[in-house]
Amino acid sequence: AKKQGRNNFQMYDVMLDRQAFEKLQVENELRKALEREEFVLHYQPIVNLCKNEITGAEALIRWQNDRVGFVSPDQFIPIAEETGLIIPIGEWVLKTALLQLKEWHGNGLEGLTVSVNLSIRQFYQPNLISMVKETLELTGVEPRFLTIEITESMTMDVEKASFILHELKKLGVNISIDDFGTGYSSLSYLKRFPIDHLKIDRCFVMDIAENKSDENIATTIILMAHNLGLSVIAEGVETAEQLGLLKQHRCNEAQGYHFSKPVPAEEFSKIKVPS
Ligand code: C2E
Ligand code: CA
Ligand code: CA
Repeated sequence: AKKQGRNNFQMYDVMLDRQAFEKLQVENELRKALEREEFVLHYQPIVNLCKNEITGAEALIRWQNDRVGFVSPDQFIPIAEETGLIIPIGEWVLKTALLQLKEWHGNGLEGLTVSVNLSIRQFYQPNLISMVKETLELTGVEPRFLTIEITESMTMDVEKASFILHELKKLGVNISIDDFGTGYSSLSYLKRFPIDHLKIDRCFVMDIAENKSDENIATTIILMAHNLGLSVIAEGVETAEQLGLLKQHRCNEAQGYHFSKPVPAEEFSKIKVPS
């Protein structure tokens, strides 16, 4: 059944300008993308800064379509959200990432964890908990090897979010707050939510070596997180200087082009951490 919240018919009212047309085309193609197997996952290493070792892989979706070409997730995830297509796509992402992890565990990458991004509609989907539980059972991955990434902005409804996060936690999975520092929600939720990691957003890491106030923000996030018993992952680390500062400030883990771009699964196991 067609849901009411969909905007595609309102768009005709507004005027079918080029942008709207393109969006509609993307939407139409998106509907067929799963069955045509046009999605793939790329994986970016998450490096433990004490051990200087890859301990995790973040799964990032890629979409290659013959008619609209390559569309970045920042462009199509919002459309998938609006149309509800994010639900089957999100299930595909989780299952594919866990099957991949299972394979890696059997190929010498024991202990590796996989991180999967959830979008807001998925997070508030009533069957989220059973979907995650069933997918873990189906793939035979222990819950402790899965990390779920949500963003601050998804936790605006503190009561509901807290309930869902506690249910997820009961399954035994880990929880990361993604893009930390860019949302507007109050910090008080941090102690109410059963969170394991904070991911410092790339915008604070970018100029950390040039801009003292960015360095102060990063340092403050790390200290605060540690005081709350959380570990910290820095996103978007591109240079050795940035990495040096983050290590100095006891950041636990890091991710970024300095180590590797997100790569197809076959290439992931070949990545070497620069020493
Ligand atoms: P995100 O979760 O914050 O993912 C990090 C993004 O930063 C990725 O972009 C990654 O390729 C990019 N990145 C990583 N290291 C660096 C770096 O050193 N420098 C720069 N400039 N960029 C870096 P990507 O893959 O285009 O994904 C964009 C966003 O789309 C993600 O942001 C996430 O919010 C969303 N997304 C991706 N895959 C999924 C998915 O499977 N499900 C959902 N719901 N959202 C997804
Ligand atoms: Ca993420
Ligand atoms: Ca992020």
